[in-house]
Amino acid sequence: MTWHGLAFSVGASFLFLVLVFRPLELAFPAKAGQRFFRPAWFTDLCFFLGQYLLWSGAVLWLLTRFGHWLDGVVPAAFRARVALQPWWIQAIEVVLLSDFFVYWGHRLQHRNAFLWRFHSIHHTAEHLDWLAAHREHPIDTVYTMGLINLPAFVLGFPLHTLAALIAFRGIWAIYIHSNVRLPLPRFVRVLIGAPELHHWHHDRNRDAGNYANISPIMDVIFGTYVCPDHEPEAFGVNEPAAKTYLGHMLRPFTLLKRRRVHHGDTEARSDSAVANSSVSPCLRGEQVFSSSTR
Ligand SMILES: [Zn+2]
Ligand SMILES: [Zn+2]
Repeated sequence: MTWHGLAFSVGASFLFLVLVFRPLELAFPAKAGQRFFRPAWFTDLCFFLGQYLLWSGAVLWLLTRFGHWLDGVVPAAFRARVALQPWWIQAIEVVLLSDFFVYWGHRLQHRNAFLWRFHSIHHTAEHLDWLAAHREHPIDTVYTMGLINLPAFVLGFPLHTLAALIAFRGIWAIYIHSNVRLPLPRFVRVLIGAPELHHWHHDRNRDAGNYANISPIMDVIFGTYVCPDHEPEAFGVNEPAAKTYLGHMLRPFTLLKRRRVHHGDTEARSDSAVANSSVSPCLRGEQVFSSSTR
């Protein structure tokens, strides 16, 4: 695609999203009075442009490579049988399996310090709307897209069956971030999800629940479904965050570097203590895990 073509397609996508979501945000606002150009709007625009111009192509390329590496994991005969099923059964299987993977992968991101460094960028948004949905570190995108597509790659679901599903997931991810609260019956919300559920996931408390991607069914099964009848007071994270797009891109790496330096100091000071310690390596690992992430 030429640069002109790319610029046109990015502009058209932006316009399409404004035309779909802005009227909804005005008619059914979750937080009334939120302006179109709210604080950090330009930073989120940079995330939008970064995703469309740079990262989505790179992520697709990586996933295609990754998909080929997985070709030999499941026997070809099994993959062929999977592909022979009616398309709607394949669609249900893909949704359930990838929801399962995304749910646990996402929950892990909120528990593991290394993964949280990248995922926390998404949670730094203090104002949610359709544009804030694009605030995501590219390594977080690779991780999530990998998990979403993993069952399909491993089991050999044909890509044409999934194209519509992947497009639907993309739009849905934008919808659940939009500043919208539709007056839907409770059972519909439990079945297909709603923005208010994901808004609670963005509550400043990062253990707020609602980790599922489309249907909240995994949250219901595993006990993390949360849906109060009002919006959270504040979105964001309880830790210092970058202010610019470039700052957000570099933030996870500067934190890793700082942590390594800090660990170097600590290790130098406590080497002999650790060497003489009778605590098992597993227990030591558990202590690091819990203290660095809660
Ligand atoms: Zn999250
Ligand atoms: Zn989100």
